[in-house]
Amino acid sequence: MSQHPLVVITGASSGIGAATARAFAAAGHPLLLIARRLEPMRDLGIADAELAACDVNDTAAVSSALARAEERFGPVDLLINNAGLMALSSVAEQDPALVQEQFDVNCVALMKNSQLVLPRMQQRRHGTIINIGSIAGKQLYGDHTVYNGTKFAVHAMTEGLRRENAAYGVRVLLVAPGMVDTSLLGHTHGEVLDGYLDYKRSIGGGLAPEDVAQAILTAYQLPQHISFREIVVAPTSQDA
Ligand code: NDP
Repeated sequence: MSQHPLVVITGASSGIGAATARAFAAAGHPLLLIARRLEPMRDLGIADAELAACDVNDTAAVSSALARAEERFGPVDLLINNAGLMALSSVAEQDPALVQEQFDVNCVALMKNSQLVLPRMQQRRHGTIINIGSIAGKQLYGDHTVYNGTKFAVHAMTEGLRRENAAYGVRVLLVAPGMVDTSLLGHTHGEVLDGYLDYKRSIGGGLAPEDVAQAILTAYQLPQHISFREIVVAPTSQDA
């Protein structure tokens, strides 16, 4: 069995989550990977990994996957709440289902899944939760109203959780990326997508998901008594 503790990553089938899975596996950690699509997680080819193909809001499924992974690898020491959904649009034109889904995935699941691991981290007085926020959790952008709302909420809840857990020695921290080249734009279309891509091209493209994974790994690998409370990581050329 691995000497390193169990790391749980949501949204591990793509983008930042998949890159983070590869980075932590290379660092020797056993993993629990969670996303709805199983194949891309299988394709990562990580031996010491439990895979859970489920919705992050299916608390019963996440909970039983956690139990399975902990049985195999020992207690979870890091939860990375990474699964996320961005659908850019003016609110008037936005599908109401996508309003709901962005809050469900970006905010509600993040809190409910934190609840699954926190009591035992508090008991052990050890552990880390890393929430993936966004630069869009710090400033407003056009056509981002709902996504902005979800990420501002992530930032606020991360700071609240950090304060609640400081006395237990449990770290809660935020990684807020700028533009990263992933599939996140898959729910954005038309002129809004064109405008986003034009800006991205004008700055020479986004970060690679591996760049963000490196920031996450670096923050986690610090000794437990040191917390990078908030990391904003973006292309140097991004000026917005
Ligand atoms: P991707 O679209 O590449 O990845 C999103 C991941 O979330 C996928 O693995 C997807 O898996 C998973 N996911 C979405 N909905 C659900 C759900 N209901 N249940 C389980 N898993 C779900 O995007 P990124 O890698 O870019 O996004 C990762 C995080 O980074 C998000 O929180 C995003 O907001 C944040 N971020 C991204 C930025 C960027 O420029 N790319 C900038 C700032 C922040 P599946 O579809 O298989 O369920």
